[in-house]
Amino acid sequence: MVIDLLVATRNAHKTEEIQRILGPQFNVTDLAAHPEIPHIAESGTTFQENAILKAVAVSKRMPGFVIADDSGLEVEALGGAPGIHSARYAGMNATDQEKTDKLLKELTRAGATKNAPRARFRCVLALAYKGNVLGAFEGIIEGQIADRPHGSHGFGYDPIFMPEGFQQTFGELAPAEKNQLSHRARALEKLRTFLIPRAVMKK
Ligand code: IMP
Repeated sequence: MVIDLLVATRNAHKTEEIQRILGPQFNVTDLAAHPEIPHIAESGTTFQENAILKAVAVSKRMPGFVIADDSGLEVEALGGAPGIHSARYAGMNATDQEKTDKLLKELTRAGATKNAPRARFRCVLALAYKGNVLGAFEGIIEGQIADRPHGSHGFGYDPIFMPEGFQQTFGELAPAEKNQLSHRARALEKLRTFLIPRAVMKK
């Protein structure tokens, strides 16, 4: 049995990562083929609130299981920034490189670049069905910020994030390695455990 899952995103990198992590038991699609679904404002104050907002809004208009991923990077020396503002940290249409440049500049400004600054990626996945939330699942990966970008795999802040126990950034690690330990993989593992028995019942 293959479980259909619609991801409430237009970020093709996220969709691809989710498909690779969940594997062939899931058929993952996103909003790329649904221009009629409007942008959903992330007006919440936590990852969980924003994930639930997105999942419910899309699930009211689309059939089947809908998940929304709200995720970001929390840097201790910056008081947890960029946090829920990770996507827009350097402005609405900024590139990934502009975002990482801004983060490294802020760390220099804060005088926090000497010892690799502590940071974590956090991901909350909300699952909705027929407009109702079924659950929210969190995954965290601790690590450190590199002195400058390394590697070109992944997306977002991957080139400057070194997961705990590694001397390489997510940008340098093979996608399969990132996908075994990432915040998203950890949240998806919880979602998988929750969803499989329920999806079987709804068939
Ligand atoms: P969202 O789409 O509002 O959840 O924004 C998440 C933002 O956090 C992304 O645009 C990235 O900048 C960053 N982010 C989240 N997960 C990752 C990841 O796995 N690697 C690198 N950056 C990430």
